[in-house]
Amino acid sequence: MTLSTPELLDRRARLLGPAYRLFYEQPLHPVRGEGVWLFDADGRRYLDAYNNVASVGHCRPEVVQAIAAQAAVLNTHTRYLHEGVLALAERLLATMPAGLQAGDGHAMFTCTGSEANDLALRIAQAHTGGTGLIITQWAYHGVTAPLAGASPSLGPQQPLGSNVVTVPLPLRAPHSEIGPRFAEGVRQAIATLAQRGLRPAALLLDTVCSSDGVLTHPAGWLNEAVNSVRAAGGVFIADEVQPGFGRTGEAFWGFARHGTPAAPLVPDIVTMGKPMGNGHPVAGLVARAEVLAAFGRQCRYFNTFGGNPVAMAAANAVLDVIEREGLQANALHTGVVLRQRLAALGRRHAAIGAVRGAGQFIGLDLVDATQGRDDGFAPAPALTQRVVNGLRQRGVLISATGPEASTLKIRPPLVFTEAHAALLADTLDAVLTELENAA
Ligand code: PMP
Repeated sequence: MTLSTPELLDRRARLLGPAYRLFYEQPLHPVRGEGVWLFDADGRRYLDAYNNVASVGHCRPEVVQAIAAQAAVLNTHTRYLHEGVLALAERLLATMPAGLQAGDGHAMFTCTGSEANDLALRIAQAHTGGTGLIITQWAYHGVTAPLAGASPSLGPQQPLGSNVVTVPLPLRAPHSEIGPRFAEGVRQAIATLAQRGLRPAALLLDTVCSSDGVLTHPAGWLNEAVNSVRAAGGVFIADEVQPGFGRTGEAFWGFARHGTPAAPLVPDIVTMGKPMGNGHPVAGLVARAEVLAAFGRQCRYFNTFGGNPVAMAAANAVLDVIEREGLQANALHTGVVLRQRLAALGRRHAAIGAVRGAGQFIGLDLVDATQGRDDGFAPAPALTQRVVNGLRQRGVLISATGPEASTLKIRPPLVFTEAHAALLADTLDAVLTELENAA
């Protein structure tokens, strides 16, 4: 017998305690997933435009079968020889620019993006001898103590680490100013660290700034900041947990969009997770061999589950599907179509502000059209909540992001098609129209 929503809520509170939060005024209770759809206990389907983890589609049969087949044969840890971990390392390194490929770079595996970032920090600290960490003003990087202390988007109750300095992200500045202003902020952060007697270990950056409100353009905006942190002895860690694995369409990795063939951007460490196992807990990093050397001398790395044969089978199967179905190209194409549709809606609904994005990672500002602000952005967090809940009521799942909680965050499974994009845009149209008529 299925419990009612109030009964489930009560049980959750009693059993799981006070730290968890659910989405939506009317929480969703999905019982099954398939492709871009989630189904609730009553059999009602919801278009998933939020979950970038199930990137090759919910319950993708090839991934499920790869997991089941490997689990039926062997699942141990990485202190034995196994080819699965080597196959995945080889394939990941081959997606990297020169300087991070096999021979110049190494791959290491974890279970979560948090662990990958945590390991990256230890590697950066061992290599640089510094401890300072520079991040964006509304970043999220993970759940471990050092990373919660580097995740201001958790809110003011979460104190930042004493080694952490945040940099304002000029998200809505004119394109020509974004790069220089961010780089100037990074240089100020380096000076702030120096005042605390600290040297920078790393600039840690989600290369689409998903929790800051989605910043994808102009390509190259982060390069001057990377140069500045390197000049001060720190490394650049590209947190690809959100943008990685083809999502941005133009490149397999978010950072790669910021380089050119003549001058590729080569991070010192690339961390990855979320879509890597399509829901199976697989994450990891790729680091320049030179950057990893000091950590390798100082430490023995062992992760009981990270890199195990089942995890590697899942991740290899995900890569197979992305490659076979050209899902990066699909992300590019569907992303363009979706942004066009959203921009067209913006001409009819005054509450729609800027639409930013690359591939299938899109941020849509909702604004209070009656207000003005210096940068032309008057946030509308209450409206945003109504829109997110209104979409859920009409069977479309998304969420909100940014310090003002006034940007819709749209990042569907990569198997999203033009028809799905149309359904999303039409439903947003209906929700905004309804809210306007009620006002
Ligand atoms: N980095 C970024 C940019 C993330 O968005 C997240 C998760 N939301 C993480 C790291 C942490 O990953 P995980 O939840 O797998 O630990």
